Amino acid sequence: MKALDELTFDNRFARLGDAFSTHVLPEPLDEPRLVVASGAALALLDLDPAVAQTPVFAELFSGHKLWEEAEPRAMVYSGHQFGGYSPQLGDGRGLLLGEVYNAAGEHWDLHLKGAGMTPYSRMGDGRAVLRSSIREFLASEALHALGIPSSRALCVIGSSTPVWREKQERGAMVLRLAPSHIRFGHFEYFYYTKKPEQQAQLAEHVLNLHYPECREQPEPYLAMFREIVERNAEMIAKWQAYGFCHGVMNTDNMSILGITFDFGPFAFLDDFDAHFICNHSDHEGRYSFSNQVPIGQWNLSALAQALTPFISVDALKEALGLYLPLYQAHYLDLMRRRLGLTTAEDEDQKLVERLLALMQNSGVDYTLFFRRLGDESATLAVARLRDDFVDMAGFDAWADLYKARVARDGEYSEEQRRARMHAVNPLYILRNYLAQNAIVAAEAGDYSEVRRLHEVLTKPFEEQAGMEQYAQRPPDWGKHLEISCSS
Ligand code: AMP
Ligand code: MG
Repeated sequence: MKALDELTFDNRFARLGDAFSTHVLPEPLDEPRLVVASGAALALLDLDPAVAQTPVFAELFSGHKLWEEAEPRAMVYSGHQFGGYSPQLGDGRGLLLGEVYNAAGEHWDLHLKGAGMTPYSRMGDGRAVLRSSIREFLASEALHALGIPSSRALCVIGSSTPVWREKQERGAMVLRLAPSHIRFGHFEYFYYTKKPEQQAQLAEHVLNLHYPECREQPEPYLAMFREIVERNAEMIAKWQAYGFCHGVMNTDNMSILGITFDFGPFAFLDDFDAHFICNHSDHEGRYSFSNQVPIGQWNLSALAQALTPFISVDALKEALGLYLPLYQAHYLDLMRRRLGLTTAEDEDQKLVERLLALMQNSGVDYTLFFRRLGDESATLAVARLRDDFVDMAGFDAWADLYKARVARDGEYSEEQRRARMHAVNPLYILRNYLAQNAIVAAEAGDYSEVRRLHEVLTKPFEEQAGMEQYAQRPPDWGKHLEISCSS
């Protein structure tokens, strides 16, 4: 275990130079205080969880103190936002503080979000409010616990600094961890500004640091792009299987590592709704729940365009062609497991589609349905769950198919079925209303609810004593919360 001042830095992105980022110092928040910290994320840096309680911790992650070896930089990038190209984006309120190594040799970017104005702030104030910082923190750690690749979050630091959104709020900072903060939009920036040398430098950097095994391939850049396609297909399959709606899948929010990145008005589905739009500024539903699948491919095409200086168009097209079949395979595999199936049959996809259509029509809770399906034998479970469906005859027909399918799947005891299904079907997810409750308390100075919710969500598959209230459908007030995009 290390003390806070013993972190080992090696800031490889900063060394790419001024064409890639600008040196900016964080602008401190007033009266910093720890809101919440993640023990698991601290462990990634070999830090003892107790360090989070020390005053210097809050000072470091609110811009008051900086390690000598840190090199805070605002990164430049661009990207396609809602389908249109924005030529000049960048870290407008976040700073890459530096890159840290742990004892296992893993490296983690420390990124401080809400750290003040940068040359890329455009009309913004460089700040993040407490509410959005808490949401990013909870989502990062919850997704990770579900097995969905994501950036991580070390802590949220609150403050008394006033920040204006629709009303006056308080500024906060979230410390984000990821092996890289490079986005699709980084490649687009150098492509569209016609800077081939820097673009090649960036491609080499990503290849060497994040895809070194692709060096062994005859066409390393093509191998890297294929890997990015594969990782995105898998990540989005997991989003769809677990009901996660990202909300702002602009190419500047897509990580080059295929991890969930840049949390805004995201949501987990409560009731299953394929057409759900979590972002209230998304009037056309470009980033609706079911559109995330084709948008994943659209974003990869935007990246492919930016990689045309390195890879032939035919090869890029072929690699892009891998996306949908890979997505389908991962998705179906996960959904089979969510249904408790251990074998594959051709008709399984139809079985899943029919179930989702029934759930859609009846507004069935997406998470609790699968959890309860695994509570007991298939026969008993469907008999109990049918009451949730308006179209009971339709559900009965599905249940007959399901029971027959389970019977063909193999012989196993109820306990085996429960253990296997509960290991993939969470009891606790980050429902918007749960986050909202925690935020309201935190805004009033009580951080106990954020901390408790975070704790519960670190073990989403494990039933936890006394935590029943986190495994319920939302109350009426919490069903269709409007999550403001201003963050
Ligand atoms: P986002 O929608 O959070 O992914 O942000 C899109 C772009 O706007 C990024 O370049 C951000 O850095 C920038 N941005 C968002 N909010 C602010 C803010 N409050 N101050 C400065 N820049 C911001
Ligand atoms: Mg962003």
